[in-house]
Amino acid sequence: MGNRGEVLVERGSANTRFFIVRTGQLEIVWPDPGELVITPLDSGQFTGETSMLAGRPALVRIRVSESGELIEIEREQLMLLVQTDSELSDIFMRTFILRRVELIARGFGDVALLGSTHSPDTLRIKEFLTRNNHPYSYIDLDKDRTVQSVLDRFHVSIDDVPVAICRNDVVLRNPSNEKIADCLGLNEAIDPMHMRDVVIVGAGPAGLAAAVYGSSEGLDVLVVESSAPGGQAASSSKIENYLGFPTGISGQDLAGRAYSQAQKFGAQVMIAKKASGLLCSRTPYAVSMDEGSPIPTRSIVIATGAQYRRPQLENLGQFEGNGVYYGATFVEAQLCMAEDVIVIGGGNSAGQAAVFLSKAANHVYLLVRSSGLAESMSRYLVRRIEETPAITLLTNTEITELDGARQLERVRWRNNKTGKDETHDIRHVFVMAGALPNTAWLHGCVVLDGDGFIKTGPDLSPDDLAAAHWPLARPPYLLETSLPGVFAVGDVRAGNVKRVASAVGEGSIAISFVHQLVRE
Ligand SMILES: Cc1cc2nc3c(=O)[nH]c(=O)nc-3n(C[C@H](O)[C@H](O)[C@H](O)COP(=O)(O)OP(=O)(O)OC[C@H]3O[C@@H](n4cnc5c(N)ncnc54)[C@H](O)[C@@H]3O)c2cc1C
Repeated sequence: MGNRGEVLVERGSANTRFFIVRTGQLEIVWPDPGELVITPLDSGQFTGETSMLAGRPALVRIRVSESGELIEIEREQLMLLVQTDSELSDIFMRTFILRRVELIARGFGDVALLGSTHSPDTLRIKEFLTRNNHPYSYIDLDKDRTVQSVLDRFHVSIDDVPVAICRNDVVLRNPSNEKIADCLGLNEAIDPMHMRDVVIVGAGPAGLAAAVYGSSEGLDVLVVESSAPGGQAASSSKIENYLGFPTGISGQDLAGRAYSQAQKFGAQVMIAKKASGLLCSRTPYAVSMDEGSPIPTRSIVIATGAQYRRPQLENLGQFEGNGVYYGATFVEAQLCMAEDVIVIGGGNSAGQAAVFLSKAANHVYLLVRSSGLAESMSRYLVRRIEETPAITLLTNTEITELDGARQLERVRWRNNKTGKDETHDIRHVFVMAGALPNTAWLHGCVVLDGDGFIKTGPDLSPDDLAAAHWPLARPPYLLETSLPGVFAVGDVRAGNVKRVASAVGEGSIAISFVHQLVRE
């Protein structure tokens, strides 16, 4: 029974109770300034949005506006229903996600960001909140003159920008992503001391796939992510080659769906927390963190990906996906049909891209910062480049400026030997300067290849295994590293093809080996 005026859930409180209205009415209230009723909930309707799935603090107040009969369900029971009843799961998931979308659209969040579009840290925080699907309101200090009074109220000087006012109370001056996550309670429901079946490090496509398959198959899964879910894929404006999305899907949408899916099956995702090492000389293993106690676990999936070497250009981010690409597939080739393009890099991947694109493009400029192509470039490619009139190799040359409104329109490059600058109307730049794997944090616990990628399964030679003191009679499984029970998937793995689909595939396959380990 709910009595008129009774507050069932307060904003910021633990989000552990779910209500279905049988009779009477509830109100979803935005508490300040001056209580705003977002929506009433009548007979047959229910409370909840995605923070309920993640066990995060409530974003709104829920109050009884007309006394009546309510059904109350604890969060654990709700999670069980979502995982076992597909019809109810559809209804709840759709509603929870749409409610979150509505909160985001209306800026009803528990954080207000005061920043400037010219500040990279403002962009960092906006991106962090957006990639976590966290609603927030934004005040642009360049446009809003009345904001000074708000700043004065919180004793904030303009040098502290960007400022995040968190839960209407705590003022954070140019905070790290981790500080924001802590203040918003994004990791509140997670017990780091609890022994897991599998800890997945990295929440890009590979890590999220492992989380979905692991949790849906009954494993106790914790994902640790140093930034926000989605990884590199989240920075892609449109992924056109991922199976099942004929019109393409933005990386952010794909990641958002995968994140909700993992949470639906009960995987916990620790946000803005960086793994700093493996305690690998003991079993069970543990993943040590930048801060806090190591997380004990029976198995580990390493999905920390790689970072493409990105040219140091001020506005590069603005054109990524809109003229700057890190892969040259048929999709990109079609975009630059009969146009001039630039390929950056002197290695095999740059050579292959230049030759491939020369068939579609009008002309390919291959820009190399050093005085020639890399020693490692295959001879056949060097010959093909030399013999293809549609490719011009420009050595000692690097891009100094990108220009355009939305899409890249012009590129300026400089010959570092002669000091000569040139500007060309070129709309497509392919950066093929190699990728750096995120493996430094492993501190030698697993065998790496010459470029720092993790060797797995059959790629581990008898010498590798002997050096790593491989202790078992069986050889490593397909995606298993030189440490039994520790797997590597996605871009971080030596030999991976650096695509969303292969990352997802490998993440799911690793889980089948985790099951085999449990059986062993
Ligand atoms: C701009 C761009 C566009 C792309 N477009 C396409 C495309 O259209 N189609 C396609 O198939 N592929 C595309 N790719 C490639 C694709 O995004 C990658 O192959 C894919 O994201 C790899 O997934 P992953 O999970 O292995 O690694 P990542 O996506 O790199 O994810 C790794 C995650 O691990 C986290 N992490 C790293 N270190 C730590 C640590 N110590 N502790 C905790 N977390 C950590 C990172 O923050 C990151 O979230 C694109 C890549 C880029 C950059």
